[in-house]
Amino acid sequence: MKRLLLTYLGCMAVIFILPAALAAISSGDGVRLPAPPSEGGTLPTELNVYFSDEGQTRAIGIEEYVKGVLPAEMPALFAPEAQKAQAVAARTYVYHKYLNYVKDPAAASPAHPDAAVCTDPAHCNAYYSEQQLIQRHGQKWAEEYLAKIRSYADDTAGEILVYDDEPILAVFHAASAGGATEASGDVWARDLPYLVSVKSAGEEAKAGFVSAVSVSRQEFTAKIKESFPNAEFSENSGAWIGERTRTQANHIDTITVGGAEIKGTQIRAMFGLKSTYFDIAVDEKNVTFTVQGAGHGVGMSQYGANHMAENGADYKQILENYYSGAKIVKY
Ligand SMILES: [Zn+2]
Repeated sequence: MKRLLLTYLGCMAVIFILPAALAAISSGDGVRLPAPPSEGGTLPTELNVYFSDEGQTRAIGIEEYVKGVLPAEMPALFAPEAQKAQAVAARTYVYHKYLNYVKDPAAASPAHPDAAVCTDPAHCNAYYSEQQLIQRHGQKWAEEYLAKIRSYADDTAGEILVYDDEPILAVFHAASAGGATEASGDVWARDLPYLVSVKSAGEEAKAGFVSAVSVSRQEFTAKIKESFPNAEFSENSGAWIGERTRTQANHIDTITVGGAEIKGTQIRAMFGLKSTYFDIAVDEKNVTFTVQGAGHGVGMSQYGANHMAENGADYKQILENYYSGAKIVKY
């Protein structure tokens, strides 16, 4: 019976999943991506999304999905061209995830094995339905902004960023620091040609652009020793913090703490820092991090995009700045 059921499920997978996959992707040696739109290539207009708050997967129109991601990921007051750039980035991001998922469903996130993306902001992209937006911001907000936000998605409908005909990993963050974004290889394992360090201005407009995290000396040393048991902290706290190396964008790449060399990204995670652009000061009682910017720093800076838009850039110029060499195409 069990075997029969498995066979049945296997057939169902072939019947329902494969044609959907093949519509977008023809397999030859492994899997090929959809042809460019100029050659008649298409991408699906509906995708499975795991709604984290409901605990269920549902198919949703991609444009409808983008309209729910936009107000969840970017402040409604941001300039229209920045919003359009965000709409294109969000649409690209989900297609990128979707194509990876189709290529290898087994590599899907265990949190949502039957969908390429979820609505948990800590995991994939934040998403709010119209009802959730009204609950969060109120009816007045909805009347003022909702139609405008939806129009930004409509104005860019079907547009995505591609590099070598593939939808790019269109990551974004709230505000970069030090006047530049981070190169992907400086933050994650992989260098991507379209995620290089580029200039970005206007970030200080973000409330809390400069933030601080303070912990007691004891908490600091204990936390470091948890991951680096060989770290040593002498009486002379002036010697606790040693050499630092920096990324291309001047963030902390590595920093020597108690003799242990630690990645800036690891320090950020350990102490809940908003970014890896930080300074450390040790006084008699506490260790204090002073941090600039917010987010991983890779790809489009949302505050930088808004600054560009306020200075006359259109969404295409914004995207060209943050995703070097990527082209906008309409599927
Ligand atoms: Zn997810």
